[in-house]
Formats: sequence, structure tokens, C-alpha cells
Amino acid sequence: MKLTLTIAALALSVTRAFAADYPDRSIFMVVPYAAGGPTDTIARLTADAMSKSLGQQIVVENAAGAGGTIGARRVADADPDGYTILVHHIGMATAPALYRQLPYRPLEAFEPIGLVSDAAMTIIARSDFEPETFEDLLAFIRQKGASVSYAHAGIGAASHLCGTLFMSTIGAKMTTVPYKGNGPIMTDLIGKQVDMTCDQATNTVGPITQDQVKAYAITSEQRAKTLPHVRTTTEAGLSTFKLGVWHGVYAPKDTPKEIVEKLSSALQSAMEDATLKQRFAQIATIPATREQATPGALHTKLDSEIRRWDPIIKAAGEFAD
Ligand code: ASP
Repeated sequence: MKLTLTIAALALSVTRAFAADYPDRSIFMVVPYAAGGPTDTIARLTADAMSKSLGQQIVVENAAGAGGTIGARRVADADPDGYTILVHHIGMATAPALYRQLPYRPLEAFEPIGLVSDAAMTIIARSDFEPETFEDLLAFIRQKGASVSYAHAGIGAASHLCGTLFMSTIGAKMTTVPYKGNGPIMTDLIGKQVDMTCDQATNTVGPITQDQVKAYAITSEQRAKTLPHVRTTTEAGLSTFKLGVWHGVYAPKDTPKEIVEKLSSALQSAMEDATLKQRFAQIATIPATREQATPGALHTKLDSEIRRWDPIIKAAGEFAD
């Protein structure tokens, strides 16, 4: 009994000493999508800002595939030492309903660090796509159905969720084309290889403003300041179609509490970093408040979003294995 207590006390003091020195080398931040998409952009801006208070570089690593579940699993299986963390979005909450054999349980496999951002989706198409207005787009899809191609970043991605909800709301089916992220989708959309997608404003403000893609609507309550000409789905007559995409930062389960606190406090400072705030504003992405950039707030959000999406996804009836 005494020996067990001594070993436990020793383990605790080793953990404390390890946490006190943290971080003494670079940290890897896994993005579960390809480079050049919205999650990648959010991760890179957040990593740069967090590095300032942590005093170590945060290196972004893209581990794309299977709608974000490959990268999430990689972090769930990583050593819980604070040197491998994850940025993931709403897909963390929708994957349990979408994947019959999800290899991790979002609420159990991670230590939440805090919320990062919120952004609306924009419904966009290649620049020469025939429909001119949102109303034309709905009529066109209803008439042409499967001959319209809709790109998404894999089952579990926000672009997949948005497309699934959009099709069930308007009562029409398009042909879906899976990619590893909205970075490559944007390249193909600008290159006119695919017809349309739904993508976070984070990734679309630039291409819409430069007329590289055509924008039909944004899924927020208000228009975005940096996209003043893009109508909301409510203004365009589809008030039931709303979708906000939130991102959070996670560490593997059992990461020491002291390290979770250091990461969370760096995240809170990052959300007030002037460069990050300026960039987020340009790309219509709302940074988390200090209160939201905390483990408790992310845990509550994830828990409520899992409950919220489960029946909606099951009703829409689209699953992966
Ligand atoms: N977040 C995007 C999506 O869910 C993917 C990406 O970031 O590339 O569709």
C-alpha cells in the first residue's frame, strides 16, 4: 500500500516537472484536411498566434482523408504529451452519426482545449455556371438533378453536411464528388472541373471577390461585411437553411491538466492577437471569446452538437462505414 502510494506520488511529481518545462520543443498541430482549405487557414493563423505566448513553434501538419476522421484518429492515438494537437470543426460532432465504425469517441478520446472560430457557409459554383441567382440555382438543380456535380471534403466534412442538408431541403439530388479538403476543391472549381460546393466563408471571400467563383448565398443570419453583395439564405427565400461551422482545438485524452491549461491560455491570448483578428475579419470568420476558448466551453459545445446532429443526420440517411 505504502509502496503504491510512493509510486503514485513519484509519477505525479514527474508529470508536474514535465508539465513545468512544457513546451521545450515544437508542437505539431494536425489539420484533418488538405492544405489550402478553411480548416488549414484557421489552424495556421491560430498556430502562429499561439506560438507567440508558448515560445515554441507550432508546426501545422495536414493528415487528410475520410472526411477528417483520419487526422482526428491520428491525434486520438498520439502520446498525450501536448506535442500533438488537433484543429477540427463541426465534423467532430457529426462523425459519430455518420460513421458506423468510427475508431474514436469524440467526447472520450480527447482533452478539449477550447473553441477557435465560427464561420458561415457560402453556396458557390464555377464562374460560368448557368444559373444567375439563387432562385435560378434551385430551379436548375431540381431540373438537372444528378447531372450537376457537387464537391465535398469527404463524409463528415462541413461541405458534405451542408450539401446533404441543402439537397434534403430543396428535395433534389446532385452527384457528389469527394475530395480531401476544400483547398483542392477550390482549385477545381476555379478550373471549372466541378460545378458547385458549399464552403466556409473563411475560404471563399477571396475567390468570390475576385470573381473566380460565383456566389449564390451565405448561410448566416446577416450578410458578411466582406461579402456585402451576397444575400443570406433567408433573403434568398430559404430561411430554414442555416449552418454555422465552428472549430476547436483538442489534445489526446490524458494529456496532463497543467499542459491543457497552458495550451488553453495560449489559445485565449491568440484569440486577441491583432494579426489573427484582422485576418479573421477579412475572411468573415469570428474568433472565439476568452470564455469560449476554454476546455469547458468546447466540451459543452461538442456534447450539445453531437446530440443536435444525430437525429438530423439519421433522418437524412447518408452514412459511411
Ligand atoms: N472544413 C472543410 C469542410 O469541412 C474542409 C477543409 O477545411 O478543407 O468541408
